[in-house]
Amino acid sequence: MTVPVFRFDNSYARELPGFYVAWQPDRVPAPRLLYLNRSLAEELGLDAVALAGPQGASIFAGNLLPEGAEPIAQVYAGHQFGGFVAQLGDGRALVLGEVLDRQGRRRDLAFKGSGRTPFSRGGDGKAALGPMLREVLMGEAMHALGVPTTRALAVAATGEQVLREQALPGAVLTRVAASHIRVGTFEFFAARGEHERVRQLAEYTIARHDPQLRGEPGRFLALLDAVVQRQAALLAQWMNLGFIHGVMNTDNVALSGETIDYGPCAFLEAYDPQAVFSSIDHGGRYAFGRQPQIMRWNLTRFAECLLPLLAEEPQHAVELAREVLGRFEPRYRARLLQAQRARLGLRGADADVDVDADVDAQDGALADDWLALLHRQQVDFTLGWRRLADAAQGHEAPLLALFTDAQEPLAWLARWRARCAREDALGWGAGVAAEQARADAMRRVSPRIIPRHHRVEAALDAASEQGELEPFTRLLEALRRPFDDDPGLDWFAEPAPRELTACYRTFCGT
Ligand code: AMP
Ligand code: MG
Repeated sequence: MTVPVFRFDNSYARELPGFYVAWQPDRVPAPRLLYLNRSLAEELGLDAVALAGPQGASIFAGNLLPEGAEPIAQVYAGHQFGGFVAQLGDGRALVLGEVLDRQGRRRDLAFKGSGRTPFSRGGDGKAALGPMLREVLMGEAMHALGVPTTRALAVAATGEQVLREQALPGAVLTRVAASHIRVGTFEFFAARGEHERVRQLAEYTIARHDPQLRGEPGRFLALLDAVVQRQAALLAQWMNLGFIHGVMNTDNVALSGETIDYGPCAFLEAYDPQAVFSSIDHGGRYAFGRQPQIMRWNLTRFAECLLPLLAEEPQHAVELAREVLGRFEPRYRARLLQAQRARLGLRGADADVDVDADVDAQDGALADDWLALLHRQQVDFTLGWRRLADAAQGHEAPLLALFTDAQEPLAWLARWRARCAREDALGWGAGVAAEQARADAMRRVSPRIIPRHHRVEAALDAASEQGELEPFTRLLEALRRPFDDDPGLDWFAEPAPRELTACYRTFCGT
């Protein structure tokens, strides 16, 4: 049997001694491979066939280290629910190393649930199967929706029980990420006044994520700007799709701009800016509608770490950082409006079409009023947008059926039609073919299938309680086709019952 080959090149371990502890995963009694992401394996240049065999189970459970892996537990700090914790770190995770994928991109391979480390504090270092499969579902859904995200490569059962409120089957997740550098990684060293280490980490981050800035005189401020830009774009996508991260602590903010750490996350069902699903978010700090301002807050913590690198004179450094942080909001708004325009069927969404400020304000108001309507009538967010595409072709009934008071949306719909007609009059064309083109374009940006609470929970329960993976696999396949109109997927598009959403709570996965 050939041993699967991973082509590791571990720059973090090599270039940043003192930023981690070398550590080994626990051995587990009975590895069993439950999930392997074959297309991702191939993207990474791995032999998916070899990995699907018994060696894959040993590798992904942590019993057999592939050659070249140098497992490390990274140290980091973080603001959790607003309070600073000076030392967190990988308490149940290990970065195995970095692999250059087929396109030459450097990607971290990391375990989650592989045992205690020096950073475990009171925890057992383990993970339960349900939350690890949840990370697969959410990450793959986000990926299929075009959102930057870490992704799951594999899940292996360990044959152990982990003790939570009850005993649950244990598992190890293998995660692929652009990197695991977080705002919290910077905070750890900044809080200790280790400015040389902050500089070293900043240089490393630039080399890895913004290599065009290497050696530039203003590179640290430019790094801040690049991170602000990535997060503004990411948050616009989250808000546009109804994604609630649930635990936006600074240790869960990746400098790569990927969504990371799928714990108590969920997608909105009925539209509600105040929606909170996390069982630990009592104050609603991370409610859906607060996410952009929380990200701005998190980025401010990042900027604070960089201050000594930005200018000699502290006040000047603060002014520079402020100016760059101030770009978050306008960038976020511009990205969101661009995405909403596309969902409204307006070609003004195209980057090469110049739209003036007046039209911007009008389209922004059109989108806001639409959301207010959805909110007032507790309309399903995903289906509301999706069925707007039917309305673009003259089929209003399916959309109106989502409203308790079907009169209320009529005035808005008339306004929307007038806006579309104005655009058509600019030479985009009209008639049946144009309507079809508009509706098709809308269906390419407004998903039909998202990870719905009831489907996710049922799939995870079946896997965790009965060892039955079929519902998980079927749901995963549906989530990979979010924009597909296939009637065979109708079941996955159905909203969860109101009663369930009203008391839906997701747990941190610890
Ligand atoms: P999270 O909320 O999953 O981002 O985790 C916050 C911190 O708690 C991280 O430092 C984790 O490594 C740590 N942690 C979470 N669960 C466990 C566990 N079961 N054992 C040890 N550490 C954990
Ligand atoms: Mg985390």
